[in-house]
Amino acid sequence: MNRYAWMLFRAYLPAMVALAVALGAMLWTSALGDIDVLKRLVPYAKWLPPIALLAALLAGGIATLRMWRWQRGEEPACSGCGGALGRLRHAPTGDYRKCMCCGGKQPISP
Ligand SMILES: [Zn+2]
Repeated sequence: MNRYAWMLFRAYLPAMVALAVALGAMLWTSALGDIDVLKRLVPYAKWLPPIALLAALLAGGIATLRMWRWQRGEEPACSGCGGALGRLRHAPTGDYRKCMCCGGKQPISP
C-alpha cells in the first residue's frame, strides 16, 4: 500500500469503524437475538444500527469533502510531502496538524 492509500485509509477510518459497529449491532439484534443473555438487551441495541450508520455516513461525507478540498488546493497541505493534514491538535509547545500521508507534524502559526 503506497502512502496515498494510507492517507485515504486514515481519512476514512472513523467511517469504517462506525460501519463495523453498525454491522455488529445488526448481527446482535438479528442472528444473536435468540441467546437469552443478549435477548434482554435487544430492545436497546436496536437503536445502535441506525445511529452508527448515520455516524458512518457523516464521517464518510466529512472525509470525502476534506479529500476533495485538499485535491483542489483549498485545504492546507503538508510542507514536506504535500499530503492532507488531519484535525487540529493542541500541545503545550503549540497547535499543530498531523500529516495523514507521512505522519509529520505541521505547526500552526497563530
Ligand atoms: Zn506529509
